[in-house]
Amino acid sequence: MADFDVIVVGAGPAGSVVSYLLAKKGHSVLTVERGKRPGAKNMFGGRLYSWSLEKVFPEFWKEAPVEREVTREVLGFLHGDRGIEIRLSTRPESRSFTLLRAKFDQWLAERAEDAGAEVVPGFKVEGPLIRDGRVVGVVAEGEEEMESEVVVAADGALSFMAERAGLRPKLSKDDFAVGAKEVIELPKEVIEDRFGLADGEGAAQLYVGDLTEGVVGGGFLYTNRESVSLGVVMRIGSLASKAGEISTSMWEATERFKSHPMIRRYVEGGKLVEYSAHMIPETQFMRGVRLYTDGMVVVGDAAGFCVNYGVTVRGMDFAIESAIAAAEAVHGALERGDTSANSLGEYERILSSGMLRELEAARRAVGLMEDERLYTSIPRMAVRTLEHLFLVNGRPKESLYSFLRREMSEEGISLISALMLGWRALRSL
Ligand SMILES: Cc1cc2nc3c(=O)[nH]c(=O)nc-3n(C[C@H](O)[C@H](O)[C@H](O)COP(=O)(O)OP(=O)(O)OC[C@H]3O[C@@H](n4cnc5c(N)ncnc54)[C@H](O)[C@@H]3O)c2cc1C
Repeated sequence: MADFDVIVVGAGPAGSVVSYLLAKKGHSVLTVERGKRPGAKNMFGGRLYSWSLEKVFPEFWKEAPVEREVTREVLGFLHGDRGIEIRLSTRPESRSFTLLRAKFDQWLAERAEDAGAEVVPGFKVEGPLIRDGRVVGVVAEGEEEMESEVVVAADGALSFMAERAGLRPKLSKDDFAVGAKEVIELPKEVIEDRFGLADGEGAAQLYVGDLTEGVVGGGFLYTNRESVSLGVVMRIGSLASKAGEISTSMWEATERFKSHPMIRRYVEGGKLVEYSAHMIPETQFMRGVRLYTDGMVVVGDAAGFCVNYGVTVRGMDFAIESAIAAAEAVHGALERGDTSANSLGEYERILSSGMLRELEAARRAVGLMEDERLYTSIPRMAVRTLEHLFLVNGRPKESLYSFLRREMSEEGISLISALMLGWRALRSL
């Protein structure tokens, strides 16, 4: 007889949601988390799209510790000390909230506890406990063994659980991006004034350009209630390919971003209260990752359900959606008394009819976003073209056509390659 019906490794959004749903169904659930408390070790840029969590907790934002509802999207191009910002008011059907993980993950884990899950922080799992080729529990630090009918690996981007159970290959640097983030405290009124927001409204602002020196990636700003999350994301493979050519480290890129005149005005005078860095899995769910085996399923970042669009990352909503699917499949398997791979395969079948299709579509956009010109030539040309359009100095101006031809030739972009990039964008986005 196993110690628990289910052991969940990791109390991030995926782990807490699967724990909540399975405990609510009456299963005995142990959720172990290596951090001192859920959320203590977790960071992300700043926004959660609400569609998947709403299925579990309708209107969760009324009680969950969210910071602000995103009502403004900004896309920015930076070049030298100049820049362009394109602003968009968000649509209600694409609802999202900014949040801070330390508070939010704790809240989600408490919901799992309320439902009856036993959440144990400060507990690091070494790997799956495997007998006769089947996962039958986990091995904790100090060789302690704990058994369960099913293990849910929700241990994030580096997932030793998935790797040691043979569900995913050993990953290389090309499978990851890295993100660094600062949380800068400012009074609520100052944030609302600088970003032009009303009470409760929030902004999500993404920037590409010089700050990454041609490395695929960019900077972000998210407004919280009384702080701003500011950070930089860069692809590790792209960063490594430029080693020796450029000076950019995560820290330097963050400093360069923060001190750009367009960005500095948002955060100056603020107090730095947190600095963190974290790995981001690239879309390796497409690269031979299996989602289940006898006695175990893998959810969230551990399964690679995270999309890095170059500058913006989306993984929280996928982590939650995969947890919902896993809970349904694990519940069914426990009810049938059959937790074999064949029975747990229901998990993938549920995902195939929805989320996996969306991730497949996202892969095309990710492919487009790997084009380095989007982080170099395009921001430069966008800034210079607008400067040209607004130039008034009492002298006759070069026509826009001749200006653009000259710019494109300086950037080494032919008309054909510009049209091809446009065509790829139309097909991918
Ligand atoms: C810089 C950056 C910016 C991002 N921005 C966004 C964004 O704006 N929006 C968005 O949707 N997504 C964003 N993401 C992605 C998002 O953070 C992840 O997709 C999401 O956190 C995945 O949730 P998860 O529960 O699968 O994993 P995680 O949140 O990583 O949780 C895994 C948990 O497992 C625990 N754990 C790990 N190993 C063990 C072990 N051996 N034993 C016990 N516990 C263990 C960890 O401590 C952690 O609590 C960003 C990521 C980064 C790095």
